[in-house]
Order: sequence, then C-alpha cells, then structure tokens
Amino acid sequence: MSSTPVAYAVSHWADDRWARGSWSLIGRDGSPADRVTLGAPVGTRLRLAGEATHPSRAGMTHGAYEQGVEAATWAAGLGHRRIAVVGAGMAGLAAARTLTGIGHQVTVLEARDRTGGRTTGVRAGGAAFDLGANWLQQFDDNELARIAEDLGLRLVPTGFNDPLIAGGRPVPDGIGKELRERLAAVPVGAAMSEVVEAWLRAPGQWSASDIQRYVDAEIVMDSGAPLSWLSARYGFEPGVGEGDRWIVGGYRLLVDHLAAGLDIRLGQPVRAITVGDGGVTVDGLAERVDAVIVTVPLGALDDIAFTPELPPAHRTARSRLGMGRVEKVILRFAERFWPEHPSGYLRVHGPGPGDVCEWLDATAADGVPTLVGLFAGPWLDELWAGGDERIAGRAAAVMAAAWPGPVAPAATGR
Ligand SMILES: Cc1cc2nc3c(=O)[nH]c(=O)nc-3n(C[C@H](O)[C@H](O)[C@H](O)COP(=O)(O)OP(=O)(O)OC[C@H]3O[C@@H](n4cnc5c(N)ncnc54)[C@H](O)[C@@H]3O)c2cc1C
Repeated sequence: MSSTPVAYAVSHWADDRWARGSWSLIGRDGSPADRVTLGAPVGTRLRLAGEATHPSRAGMTHGAYEQGVEAATWAAGLGHRRIAVVGAGMAGLAAARTLTGIGHQVTVLEARDRTGGRTTGVRAGGAAFDLGANWLQQFDDNELARIAEDLGLRLVPTGFNDPLIAGGRPVPDGIGKELRERLAAVPVGAAMSEVVEAWLRAPGQWSASDIQRYVDAEIVMDSGAPLSWLSARYGFEPGVGEGDRWIVGGYRLLVDHLAAGLDIRLGQPVRAITVGDGGVTVDGLAERVDAVIVTVPLGALDDIAFTPELPPAHRTARSRLGMGRVEKVILRFAERFWPEHPSGYLRVHGPGPGDVCEWLDATAADGVPTLVGLFAGPWLDELWAGGDERIAGRAAAVMAAAWPGPVAPAATGR
C-alpha cells in the first residue's frame, strides 16, 4: 500500500506578503479591547475592518464578514456615497456587498489576482480543496453558514472533540477545564508559556505528557504562535468547536457568490491612503472617495502608508496583536492507508513539545482518499523546507509512520 501522494498542494501563508501569517492573535500585553480599538472609526472617513477587529470571533471567516458589514453600516450611516474598500477577502466582500446592495458606489481594490484572501481553493487531482479557511465555525451562529445553506452547498460536520489520536490515548477532559481556570487567574502581561511551564513543573493529578499534549492540540495548533509571545489571559480565543462543517468544493463557492456583481479591481495593491477634509485619496483610484474601509490582514496593514498616520490608540492596539503560523497540506492518495474514523478528524503528535498536526479526512469530497493536514509549532518549521513536493512527501510520511499497519477497506464516496 503506497503512502506516496498522487497529488498535493502546500500552503505558505507566512511567506505570503498579502497575509504574513494565518490569523490574528493577542500578544501578552493585549486583550480583546485592542481588537475593538483597532476597528474603531478613525475620524469619519476611515475604518479598519477584517477578522483582527472582531472582539469575539477573530481569526474566523464569519467574524471577518460581520466586521465588513459593520464597517459598511457605519459608512452608510454617515451619508458617504462613494466608498473604496481595500481587500477582497470576507470582510471586504461583505462591506462592498452591503453598500452596493443599498445603492452606494463601491470600488474594491485587491492586491492579488483573485478574490477570497485567506480563503483559497486549489485543484488537487480533480477536486477543489481549501488551502486557507476550511470550516464554517460556530455553525449555529454563523451568517456565512446561513448563506452556504441557502446556496445548497454540501457541508460536512467534523467532530473536533473526538479525533483519532495516533499512538496515544485521549487527554482527560479535566485538563481543559483546569487550563482555562489557570489562564483566567493570571494578570494581563503574563505569557502563555509561563502558565504552561509552571503547570508542567507541578502537574498535580495529571501527567505532564497529557498536559503537554492538550496544550499542543488546543493552543499550539489553534495559534501557531510562540507561547512566550501569546497572551495567557486572552490567547486561547473561541474558535474550533463541535459541529463545525467544511464545504465540499471549497470556500470558493461562497466567495464567488459574495463577489458577484461587485466592482472589484484585481492586481491593485494599495500602498498609500490620504484622508483629508474633502475626501480620501487611495492610490490606484483616479477619483477621490468619501470614505475608505481597509480590510487587509494585520501583517499587511503595516505596508500601507496612512496620511495622517493612524492614531496612537490604533497603533498601540496593532502592536499588541500579531499573526500566527499554521500551514496546510492537501494530499491525495491512490489508496487509503489510515483508518476511517467517524469524526473525520485525526491527530498526530511529533517527537518534541509543541510538535503537532491535525488532519481532516476529506475523502467525502469525491471518494478519492484525501487528507487535509494542518501543521503548527516547531514541527512545521522543520518540515516546511525545500520545495512543495518535498514538504508534501514529508507530511505524507508523518501519516504513514503514524498508521503503519494495514487498515480495513474503507467505504469511500460517502
Ligand atoms: C490555514 C488557514 C486555515 C484557516 N481555517 C479557518 C477555518 O477553518 N474557518 C474559519 O472561519 N477561518 C479560518 N481561517 C481564518 C480565515 O481565513 C480568516 O479569518 C478570514 O478569511 C479573514 O478574512 P479577512 O477579510 O479579514 O482577511 P483576508 O481574507 O486576508 O482578506 C484581506 C484581503 O486584502 C488583500 N490585501 C492585503 N494587502 C493589500 C493591499 N495593500 N492592497 C490591496 N489588497 C490587499 C489580501 O490579498 C486579501 O485578499 C484560516 C486561515 C488560514 C490561513
């Protein structure tokens, strides 16, 4: 049975100049209030939106979407008619769609040659898979999920709380509860690593290896940031949960729907924005506009020259937030060599602390054995070197080593 992929795709979000990481996180001196400050209007003509500005749904597509709608409502409420939107990800599309829908004149400027931002699909061996966002999270309270349902998209639930763990037993439930209590008890300014290291030194009723594995799966995997930088108090934000669903065919189906009919200029990186009393000048746009909504990721925000510069409160808020690194690999195989698990989710821990990867069994897309892997932590740094073929081969080897034995024939094409 061969574990050599027949098709693959590999993400490089950290090296992507229009993303510079995977999603925003709160550093040790920060709090959700920084997200609110960053998204507060700058006067009456400029507002930052995007996932990083959502106080409770940051790092997720529906959080970005909500912030886009919020910024559009703000601009419309001020009576602005001509509005520029920078970025055609979820937030930008939501803003533009909301404003266009009520008759405003909107131009979207997008640096890349495609829409969708950190949602992006690739074709691997025929079917389309997501190299960015995969799931509709917090499914019952997710506006994008309602749109996906209205569009009749095929949505597959994932049981994140019941992954099949290679070579290990499930971590006792009480560890998560105790970790949350420990994190809530420390002041702002404490780093996640301080809490984790203190606990590992005195693990109490738990085993240190179970604590480490819990931290790796829940915090390293969800952040992709060094724990010495991440806020202990606020770095473990809401996100992945039971009932999240992935979109068969990918987020592109949703993005194309949201982008339909909008004036989107692709390949137009915005480098400078000047806000004056009479309007806003955005480079790339010949005419001045009444207002601008900027939805670029945190890392890309630093590359835009604002005149006047962003207020001190916004800059301080920006400095307390950062981007993590979680990368994905899509692997297609001729045969399944890993076990089929009802939750559709698998986890492998690596040799060192912080080494972790998780896998969505995406065979449901078209019946071809397919794994979508997410890597974070030091293992990611070690494996993501060389060309994509080598990275894909190493990632496949991780799975082959985790499940070396023969597996029962799988019922594919669910
Ligand atoms: C690997 C990975 C997995 C993820 N998994 C999930 C998931 O399962 N579920 C989920 O809900 N979320 C997930 N996310 C997070 C989700 O993708 C983001 O939170 C969301 O897409 C952000 O939307 P946004 O509009 O705020 O930003 P973006 O999607 O980044 O859009 C911003 C846009 O601005 C453009 N831009 C940047 N700079 C400029 C400039 N100077 N001029 C013009 N345009 C510019 C960018 O090209 C981009 O198109 C994942 C992200 C990654 C990377």
